[in-house]
Amino acid sequence: MNQNKLFNRTRWQLAISYAAVMGLILSLLGIGVYKAIAHAHWVAIDRELESVAGTLHDSLELKLQQPGRLEPIVNELLPNLRVIGVNGIKEQLPNRHILSAINQGYYYIRLFDYSGKLIATAGAYPAEFPSAFNSKQWQIITDTKGNLYHQISVSLHTKTQQNWGYFQVGRSLQDFNDYLSTVKIILKLGLPTALILIGFSSWLLAGLAMKPIYASYRQIQQFTADAAHELRTPLAASQATVESALLMPQLDEKEAREILRTIDRQNRRLTQLVADLLLLARMDNQPIADRRQLCCLNDLVSDLVEELAAMAIASEVALTSELRVQQLNVVGDSDQLYRLVANLIVNAIQYTPAGGKVTVILDCSHIEAIIQVQDTGLGIAATEQGRIFDRFYRVNSDRSRHTGGSGLGLAIAQTIARAHHGSLSTRSELGCGSTFILRLPL
Ligand code: ADP
Repeated sequence: MNQNKLFNRTRWQLAISYAAVMGLILSLLGIGVYKAIAHAHWVAIDRELESVAGTLHDSLELKLQQPGRLEPIVNELLPNLRVIGVNGIKEQLPNRHILSAINQGYYYIRLFDYSGKLIATAGAYPAEFPSAFNSKQWQIITDTKGNLYHQISVSLHTKTQQNWGYFQVGRSLQDFNDYLSTVKIILKLGLPTALILIGFSSWLLAGLAMKPIYASYRQIQQFTADAAHELRTPLAASQATVESALLMPQLDEKEAREILRTIDRQNRRLTQLVADLLLLARMDNQPIADRRQLCCLNDLVSDLVEELAAMAIASEVALTSELRVQQLNVVGDSDQLYRLVANLIVNAIQYTPAGGKVTVILDCSHIEAIIQVQDTGLGIAATEQGRIFDRFYRVNSDRSRHTGGSGLGLAIAQTIARAHHGSLSTRSELGCGSTFILRLPL
């Protein structure tokens, strides 16, 4: 197949198109997966911040008594609390912290009074962080080094429901960005690797898919060449006869008749060949459903043996039949079945030397009718048995030449058998004879 340019090109085109489509689908899928992962992670961060902020908020509100003033007990709640007073930052010594949610290292907390003045920070508060106040609930903040933080703001009230100020909890987005970068790298490396694998496997699959198409293309090519060859032979013979006749200065009646007889013979051969080809083409396209009728195989075998008796006598072959069952009927096209069995018997007579025997046996099993055509003729070598049903195939051209066979007889017989949902097989031994077995469903 790879030697054939058309098939090779088509195989590559198929593989490339398939890989391109799969690549596009995988890229879209990759983008979708990336977005879904990022979204899920972002939602998890939001929930985490919300829950940490909610817990701290509830605990803090229970301790706060005066607006803008931090009670000492707050130090027990928050780690690394740094109170920003008039005299600068006063760091509180860390105690045992009741709320350990923000002890994880990447949370920070900011407390603002109601006017927006920073009162205290806690947790992992970055030094480069902008201290400007913004009361928006969700914010993404960039510090002076370009690091990103996600932050939630909640308003705080005292125990007596007075406005105390604001409370902000945030976390660095470093781990989030690192995680997404890793996902991106995996996708960026995974996609081309997957594409290479897809490209390779689609090339293999395209080859597999095209194998039967290529086989039937080769068969058609072979068939066309064989048909052209078979048609050319009688045409060339007729042409040569006519040309040699035209070269003669004059023809007497006997010579003219001889020439006409030759042309007639070649014409008949041509007509038979075209008819056989047409029959095969028609049966390939159309099943026998429209010509189904009940066909008695006993009558068919008896008629054929009677009809071909003269031919058998001329070939000095003993032709007999053995009907082991009575009134065996199958549904089918009787003309075609007649043609099928006739082909088998004619072959048996033709390929059996004088003095041999041809026996047609009609039998049945409980599901099928069986017709066997046995001969004591030339036989067929085991290596040839698989090919004798191919169109135009002749075991040995010389052997078939004197019979005038074109190699279509068994192909037609098998096509008819298959059209009747039956089968045709052979058992043969070179020099000992052959048996052709036709099985037709009852
Ligand atoms: P042909 O028209 O040449 O006989 P067929 O398709 O009928 O073509 O048969 C194909 C080949 O099978 C023949 O060339 C012949 O050599 C071989 N063959 C068919 N029937 C027999 C048989 N009964 N005994 C031996 N050879 C056979």
